[in-house]
Amino acid sequence: MKPELQHTKVVIVGAGPSGIGCAALLKQMGLTDDAMRIFEAKQIGSTFKAWPKEMKMITPSFPSNGFHQTDLNAITPDTSPAFSIGKEHLTGEDYATYLQNVVKHYDIKVEENQKVIDVLPQGEDDDFLITLASGEQIATQYLIWAGGEFSSPKKATFGGSELCTHNSEIDSWANCDADHYAVIGCYESGVDAAYNLASLGKKVTLIDASYDQADTYDPSRVLSPYTAERLASLVNTQLVELEQCFEVNQVIETSSGYELISMTGDRLSSQGKPINCTGFNTHLGPVSDLFDLDSEGFPLINKFDESTICRNLFLTGPKLVHGEVLLCFIYKFRGRFTTPCSIIATELDLDLSILKHYQQAGMLLQDLSCCEDQQCFC
Ligand SMILES: Cc1cc2nc3c(=O)[nH]c(=O)nc-3n(C[C@H](O)[C@H](O)[C@H](O)COP(=O)(O)OP(=O)(O)OC[C@H]3O[C@@H](n4cnc5c(N)ncnc54)[C@H](O)[C@@H]3O)c2cc1C
Repeated sequence: MKPELQHTKVVIVGAGPSGIGCAALLKQMGLTDDAMRIFEAKQIGSTFKAWPKEMKMITPSFPSNGFHQTDLNAITPDTSPAFSIGKEHLTGEDYATYLQNVVKHYDIKVEENQKVIDVLPQGEDDDFLITLASGEQIATQYLIWAGGEFSSPKKATFGGSELCTHNSEIDSWANCDADHYAVIGCYESGVDAAYNLASLGKKVTLIDASYDQADTYDPSRVLSPYTAERLASLVNTQLVELEQCFEVNQVIETSSGYELISMTGDRLSSQGKPINCTGFNTHLGPVSDLFDLDSEGFPLINKFDESTICRNLFLTGPKLVHGEVLLCFIYKFRGRFTTPCSIIATELDLDLSILKHYQQAGMLLQDLSCCEDQQCFC
């Protein structure tokens, strides 16, 4: 027999920092458990648990919340991973533990191992019909999509990419047993791969498609100090060779390993499977048809972070883009949890007084002109 259709007010898809961050705020605004359901395909913080064991957060944590300098990786004004975990640069496992702590602290009911496979807008009071992989169906008025990007690694950017290992598929760099690797992509994850491989005594050819010397301080466009510092520490080891202006066009298998061929026909070799550090696509899963995309593949949203083509469907997380501003780090996109939550709270007549606290903590980001200017702060 088909289970009875459940009704709720708010559904959040994804229990990473953005889903949990929005859920914590809505709870503080007085939304009751029966009015909010949070579905997570795997476990709380599963994305972080899947990071290579050695990988650490590049954004430092510090327990400075009391002075309105909120820990950069905190997702509520009153929690701090630095305080609860006791580390400045957390591993993925550490951060997943922090997220679990937040869930406990705010008594958030996350339904784990519940993948949302279909979302159908209804156009009535219950605006969406959500279907879970289990077959259960839920009708909801508001939907916050917090599915992240980790589920969609950017793999097929060149021919033969299936011969490479995407860095999101590495459990531990210690399991890489060749003596030399080509690492494709010279941004945060590429340099992190090179650093970890070289720390194990392996040779690395670090491949950068461009020769970019951006004059900006924004870590979403240039290497963070943490990564730049680790890269600098490798300079004298002669283990890492930087190959710039090499845009990989094709990877082929050879008798001694792999060969990488550039757009201009130059060649480089890799003894082990090349490591692909080319990032992630937007992962919209079952809501793919409910967002228009801009020319770079980012979901189009209005000033309330709501889909431009589907009312009451909100986006949160690292694919939020407003004009030139990409809110791709936790300390950036957490400033927008207040945006969909305020709309929902106003319409459901909840308590908005907590917003003042979020504002004091720098977690209420409305005027995005503050981030547009890439001026020098030195
Ligand atoms: C290696 C690496 C290092 C990083 N380092 C930093 C850093 O130092 N600082 C920083 O600020 N950011 C960092 N980031 C980026 C940061 O991890 C992401 O911005 C963050 O995880 C995004 O949070 P999220 O909640 O939107 O998505 P996620 O954390 O990816 O969570 C999304 C969740 O949604 C679930 N989900 C997806 N689809 C469905 C579905 N259909 N049904 C149910 N559940 C679903 C997933 O299982 C997942 O648990 C790093 C990312 C990577 C990959």
